[in-house]
Amino acid sequence: MRIAVMTLAVVCLLSGCGDDSSGRAPTQPTPVIPTVSEWTLAGRVTATISGEPVAGATIAATDVTATTDGAGRFELKRPLAPVSPLEVTVSAGGYLSRETQAIHPRATPLVVDIIAERTPFDLSFYRALVRNGFESPDELTATHRWTRNATFYLKTVDDTGRSLEPEVLARLQQEIPRAFSEWTSGRYRATLEIGAEDRPEVEGLVRVNFTRDPDFEHCAQATVGGNYGWITFRLDYCGCGSLRIDPRTMWHEVGHTAGFWHVRGDFVMDKYFEGGCTAFPAITAPEQYHARVAYERPFGNIDPDQDPVWFHMLRAGEAPPVVTCGGRR
Ligand SMILES: [Zn+2]
Repeated sequence: MRIAVMTLAVVCLLSGCGDDSSGRAPTQPTPVIPTVSEWTLAGRVTATISGEPVAGATIAATDVTATTDGAGRFELKRPLAPVSPLEVTVSAGGYLSRETQAIHPRATPLVVDIIAERTPFDLSFYRALVRNGFESPDELTATHRWTRNATFYLKTVDDTGRSLEPEVLARLQQEIPRAFSEWTSGRYRATLEIGAEDRPEVEGLVRVNFTRDPDFEHCAQATVGGNYGWITFRLDYCGCGSLRIDPRTMWHEVGHTAGFWHVRGDFVMDKYFEGGCTAFPAITAPEQYHARVAYERPFGNIDPDQDPVWFHMLRAGEAPPVVTCGGRR
């Protein structure tokens, strides 16, 4: 009863009820009635790489949902602002569902891109190249891409103290910057340093070493992704005439450095490559496209397309895994 009385009193205060029997309109201003939604977040859903709008996509963001219009736009509405980042899931027919986070308040609209499951995208190739799905299909890895520019340090003496042939050094200086730029879709640069001494492991540095060990029956060994790492080339094993490392092997190892795994077939990252005298190597169109998709995702994104919590603050820091490349010819 008390609540009812108080409510009536409030209503009277707002609407000006009383004993005015003159029939005139009340003099107080009409109160502003709060709308149901007071917090909004506008955004767009686009297709990864092409940037085309995705119409009819569903955005589920913690406890609110919205659907995109023909231009891919949506607006999330809520009575009050959420107290933490929104857990966002975007799904649409013919696209991989993406799970990500949205921080707020924000100065710009929220734009979420999702991957179209159609040519040129191939999920099984993507899983092989980006998640080690060819060699380890039951344990797909997170994206392990770089998040900064790299310095490649070429050690000019091999593990026996013998100097590296000038021709090999010159070719590596030519190929590594091109290969790193292509594998990272032009996002990051590789600069080169050379020297005879060992260098400690530091962030941003890729140490390139050379061996002539006859027991090392592979073209090379390398770390996969992760803002620092190393490559060890076996000289004279996957060479090309007087050039003791095949240029294609150089591109293959830089592909590992950039965060990519072995695939099967006529690709630079083919697991069973045996060197060869490729004069002007370049990553193939499927490798280029899928590498670009991977670099459109944050470090730590997991299969099929789930960004890690706090991805906007994560950096590639953990020790990268190691792969061994190319067998006996
Ligand atoms: Zn390899």
